[in-house]
Amino acid sequence: MITPVLAGFLCVQSFGLPIQRAEAFIQDNREPQADDLRNSDLFLQQATHVSAKPTRDQKLRVEALLTRMTLEEKIGQMTNLVINTITTGRDQDIRIDPAKLEKAILKYGVGSFQNVNNQALPAEKWREIIGQIQEATQRTRLRIPNIYGIDSIHGANYVRSSTLFPQELGMAATWNPVLMQRAAEIAAAETRAAGIPWSFSPVLDVGRQPLWPRLWETFGEDTYLAQVMGVAFVRGLEGDDVSSPTHVAACLKHYVGYSFPLSGRDRTPAWIPENYLREYFLPTFTAAVRAGAHTIMVNSAEVNGVPGHINRYLLTDVLRGELGFQGFVVSDYEDVKKLVNQWHVAADEKEATRLAVMAGIDMNMTPHDFTFNENLLSLVKEGKVPMSRIDEAVRRILRVKFELGLFEQPMPDAALVSKIGTDESRQVALQAARESMTLLKNTKNLLPLSQDRKVLVTGPTANSLLSLNNGWTYVWQGNNADLYPKDRPTILQAIEAKVGKNLTFVPGSTLDQEINIDEAVRAASNADVAIVCLGEGAYTETPGNLTDLTLSEAQLKLADAIEATGKPVVLVLVEGRPRVINRVVDGAGAILMAYNPGNEGGTAVADVLFGEYNPGGRLPFTYPRTPNGLITYDHKLFETEATGFDNATFRPQFEFGHGLSYTTFNYTNLRLDRKQVPMNGQVNLSVTVTNSGQRGGKEVVLLYVRERVASLTPAGKRVKRFAKIYLEAGQSRDIAFTLRPDDLSFIGTDNKPTLEAGDFDVMVGSLTDSFSLQPGQKQIPSRMRKGSRK
Ligand code: BGC
Repeated sequence: MITPVLAGFLCVQSFGLPIQRAEAFIQDNREPQADDLRNSDLFLQQATHVSAKPTRDQKLRVEALLTRMTLEEKIGQMTNLVINTITTGRDQDIRIDPAKLEKAILKYGVGSFQNVNNQALPAEKWREIIGQIQEATQRTRLRIPNIYGIDSIHGANYVRSSTLFPQELGMAATWNPVLMQRAAEIAAAETRAAGIPWSFSPVLDVGRQPLWPRLWETFGEDTYLAQVMGVAFVRGLEGDDVSSPTHVAACLKHYVGYSFPLSGRDRTPAWIPENYLREYFLPTFTAAVRAGAHTIMVNSAEVNGVPGHINRYLLTDVLRGELGFQGFVVSDYEDVKKLVNQWHVAADEKEATRLAVMAGIDMNMTPHDFTFNENLLSLVKEGKVPMSRIDEAVRRILRVKFELGLFEQPMPDAALVSKIGTDESRQVALQAARESMTLLKNTKNLLPLSQDRKVLVTGPTANSLLSLNNGWTYVWQGNNADLYPKDRPTILQAIEAKVGKNLTFVPGSTLDQEINIDEAVRAASNADVAIVCLGEGAYTETPGNLTDLTLSEAQLKLADAIEATGKPVVLVLVEGRPRVINRVVDGAGAILMAYNPGNEGGTAVADVLFGEYNPGGRLPFTYPRTPNGLITYDHKLFETEATGFDNATFRPQFEFGHGLSYTTFNYTNLRLDRKQVPMNGQVNLSVTVTNSGQRGGKEVVLLYVRERVASLTPAGKRVKRFAKIYLEAGQSRDIAFTLRPDDLSFIGTDNKPTLEAGDFDVMVGSLTDSFSLQPGQKQIPSRMRKGSRK
């Protein structure tokens, strides 16, 4: 069924190819096809009007249960403990300790567990452990099932043999929400097959601080792109029926402002004025709430001096009151305790507990002990936390458990285990890895290479599945080589599969130490081309903190030395954030950005290098030229003469949205249906894109908008729409977009959307046009209207 909102939206598309399709949807009463949904707006419109309402029956069951629960049982439901609290043994030998399990579930009624004991486990092992947990819940008075949560952030990365996808930053580079949704569907199915119904993903922090060690966990620096991809992730995880055996509840994280630490280091303060918080960091969460997400995790750090976990304004007034979020809020790891020791906003844990619960935390990742339970119990008995607040939190948690179908079936279908890591899923991961590949430089068509060339492969990321995957892979830091599958090729192995004995490999350096650069130089002299694989290892959170974005001296020296041989050099960057490489850019003939493409990434890199896949990825962040040249693409326009700023200082190494192809695309015929747009009106535009080269390829059509004059300094440009299309050589296609009032507004100093009359420029490819928004009656942009899921 087409929703009235979608039908309404489609009716207003006035020209270009999509109008025929739009009419077809309406006439046939069918959903848009995957191809149409590569248009970001159609995708978002469809995905954010989810009608996943709890049934009346579910509501009644929740209320009936609540009235029967003791205070201790309620607090138990609000508690999340890490798996180690109920197990013995380590790594693969982990097993449930019956006494500990008994204490957690039968004494404290703990309603949720999480995480791994160091390592990923086979699905069968997970099912055994979770089965024992659920079996224990069935021996409690009210038989409330447990909800187990895990970080399935790029596939079911804590389930052995699962399908691993590019990390979010790479997924963003695909600009393909349909592919993102499919990847998340597979991640969900493989997670739930292991008995786990809840994933701590997606990360919806907008990655605007490149030093931050979790940049690669984000969809990059653009809010709109992150919104579209985040919604795709949520829809893939949750599906239309989250209780189905192939879906899981999503957990949006980390609400909100976590990704913008001033220092660049993890879990350090951010200063974000509220209007900018709302402009750049809140919209991803707003969209994902509208897409039906069931849970949300809190920012582990602080914004403007207020730790995320006690920010009642954001957690309750904004999240509940404005966004209409109805699921439950979970703390991040041990963060209530950290209010005492790290943030110093509470003298003791009991006070921290009061502040957090009253701010809006519904479930606490305690996660190692029962102090939360003891403290909250006393707080309620002393009247410092009202029973109504406890009931509210528990009601939300129980509803999610009901909606997940856990009361009916705490364990999923055993047959699903055989669906983990299938060839079909692996093909989707390969496709995602290929679509993420971003060709940054290709002088004189050095790429693609022919397979009969003599190739030197060198560099520390050439033979590393760790670098291809990064953190949250089999272990938290992704750094246990033993756990990686033996049958997934590294870049080196994938190249070898193509060129055979034409390949020489010399490591040259580790990530930060020279090994045998001289030998690599000698080998380069005997080769036709050198492929130098640079970048980073595996890391996340605090262990990934950096003091300098510049790539290590050892790696730069290796690249320098190889370039000095005069042989053609291809740099392959396997990294989670843009490490500064300007010293070796000019000497390289070609540069391929691979991000962290996952276990199929070696194949994807080789496919692009040797032309079996035509790259079409686009950078989802601005690649800095210098360590201090950190700026996002949507910066304000610096006028050199007026301000004395040297714009060259801000000239990035590679622009946001940059990405080359083995074919060329031409943009013509940018048309606007009106040049004078009424204040509450919309403007339809279309453009013709032609593949003017020799081979088929995918193109990301990006629409930027700039307001020329505004009462708050306007951004130079911002992405407002995009579409990912495939064109055969010689083929053309019209792409149509519609801009509505909320696309033209910004958040003013009163923290509200502001729409101002004036001139707007639109930019697509190399084309520009403009229109004027006419003064007149203002309308409230829809992004301010309450979104509600249920
Ligand atoms: C991270 C979260 C993660 C949680 C559970 C925390 O340290 O910040 O992103 O979901 O651990 O693993």
